[in-house]
Amino acid sequence: MHRYPLNPLAALVLSGLLLGCSKADSSNVPTADTAHTASKVELQAWQPSHAARAESWQLLGNDQRLAADAEGLWLLDAGGNRLAQHPGNFYSLDVRQQNDQLLIATTATASQQPTLLRTDTSNLRLRQQLILPATTYRIENLCLYRDESHNLHLFVVGEEGMGDQWLVGNDNRLLDTAAHVRSLRLPPESEHCAVDDQQHLLYISEESVGIWAYGAHPEAEQSRQPVDMVAPFGGLQDMVAGLAAIPGGLLALDADARQLHRYRLTGDSWDSLEPIALDGTVEPERIAVRTANQQSELLLVDGDDGQLYQTRIAWPGSAHTSDADIPVLLPTVQTDPIPSPGDAADDPAIWLHPGDPAASRVLGTDKRNGLAVYDLNGRQLQYLAVGRLNNVDVRHGFQLGEQRVDLAVASNRDHNSLQVFAIDPASGQLRELGQIATPLQDIYGLCMGSAPDGSLYAIANDKDGRFLQYRLNGSNGEISAELVREFAVATQPEGCVVDDLRQRLFIGEEGEAVWALDAGADASTEMTRVIGIGGPIKADIEGLAIYQHPEHPYLVISSQGNGSYAVLDAEPPYQLRGSFRIGLNSRLGIDGVSETDGLEVTSVNLGGQWSQGMLMVQDGRKRMPEGNQNYKYVPWQSIADALQLD
Ligand code: CA
Ligand code: CA
Ligand code: CA
Ligand code: CA
Repeated sequence: MHRYPLNPLAALVLSGLLLGCSKADSSNVPTADTAHTASKVELQAWQPSHAARAESWQLLGNDQRLAADAEGLWLLDAGGNRLAQHPGNFYSLDVRQQNDQLLIATTATASQQPTLLRTDTSNLRLRQQLILPATTYRIENLCLYRDESHNLHLFVVGEEGMGDQWLVGNDNRLLDTAAHVRSLRLPPESEHCAVDDQQHLLYISEESVGIWAYGAHPEAEQSRQPVDMVAPFGGLQDMVAGLAAIPGGLLALDADARQLHRYRLTGDSWDSLEPIALDGTVEPERIAVRTANQQSELLLVDGDDGQLYQTRIAWPGSAHTSDADIPVLLPTVQTDPIPSPGDAADDPAIWLHPGDPAASRVLGTDKRNGLAVYDLNGRQLQYLAVGRLNNVDVRHGFQLGEQRVDLAVASNRDHNSLQVFAIDPASGQLRELGQIATPLQDIYGLCMGSAPDGSLYAIANDKDGRFLQYRLNGSNGEISAELVREFAVATQPEGCVVDDLRQRLFIGEEGEAVWALDAGADASTEMTRVIGIGGPIKADIEGLAIYQHPEHPYLVISSQGNGSYAVLDAEPPYQLRGSFRIGLNSRLGIDGVSETDGLEVTSVNLGGQWSQGMLMVQDGRKRMPEGNQNYKYVPWQSIADALQLD
């Protein structure tokens, strides 16, 4: 049994150890006796009356088979008799079957265009067709993937490691136009692919090296885990050929060794079961699988003579359970991308226009260079390149000399200062007001509070755990601040928020818990644990925000480690009301949200879809198309509906 750790670094260490072993004692080469222990299956040659030389096959329900070749797509019965044909010249094939319809992905050979067809299952009658732009590379293979929101994606695997992920459908329909989700950077000898929809995994074979697993989800990061490697690094003898996903596992052909390898996904790694000898074949290269009732039906294509073989193997199904289903809500607006590349967007705030809520503005930090200001449609209105601003917050009604302005304060990491902006209450225009020095060495998070007497506070933290609370003063027309309180948590904090109505301050200790304490300048700094890491919350705890429902205030937490958001009562005993994720909106062409740092929420009626208010979140990975990070807006109504909040 070869078990590979999920961490690619650990795999390198492991392969180094195996190499060491084989040098010291060649009888210890791990592949030495796998051939002897391989179990066998009975292979039955299958000779269809049509498409007998087709390379690309899929097994369907009702004992039907689908093939692609130079004469088109073929629907055959189990006896190999033709049921229907769709003319064309195609190769490569994947399919999703839903009720009486098929969603078919194939490649138009001459034009190198990935082609999607929606047809009737019984006769291949065409309902819808979507033809993608020709690739700049030769297509090796195609794989379909359906995500948790029923978006249909197409993975295109090209020569020399080139590849792409496209959004091609939603529910059981194809889109009118495919949307490019992201480019894939695959190994140079990538050839075959397989997708496990439940586990959101894309498997890729690298012919002479091994099998890799990638995150298939549009928000997944571009990293890979080894499933198995070719000897001497793993259990594959010679070269990896066709792959097929089965519930909770993977099948792979070892073509020259004429073996079928089976892998079971357990936790974060793959257990290799005893390989199955494919006696009688010459070079089994491609595989199609259909699993039902703990049995997998296989169709194999011999790459040497094109002969087809069928057989069945037992497969007890998946013991692996994926994350409990939590609602996936859709963003309805995204902002223009932040000007700086990389991990640059961090934390939003909202400025509410006093007379015209629809003219309110969203502020978003660019932690590499400044602050961007957006309207409610996400268009950038202003950009203030004042330095590395990490977190930003806003409060209304500040007396600046003779003027009354609104204030935005941000933590400036270039100067360990509070960066202050005045907001013109009439126009919403921001202008720099100045900086307030702090004694912090590594200023990080920041939030603001408004006391019952009208004073405004800025509360900044340091990565070392210290919090400094400042009272802001502008009576002489210049901004200044007085340090009024200091406290600390044990480990790195960042997000914080003040519930002004109840004078309660919430702070997030990233790897530990959310704490609550009195926000008052003279109040006790005793902290109450609101919620800790575990269950719905996975480190880091990032942005915090308050939804000011008059009777039921809610605390929203960015649980960065599992890409979700938790909603709790913002009053003791801080009951958890539920969690949600933010997924891809195929109708509006907006990608989903992952790796969120800061967030903000308002309960104010901003009109239209924002009648119950709005949630703004930072998106750590911009897709569809790929680009600089941005912020996404979600109507609070959809959160209230999904979590049944009153
Ligand atoms: Ca980040
Ligand atoms: Ca903020
Ligand atoms: Ca953080
Ligand atoms: Ca995203």
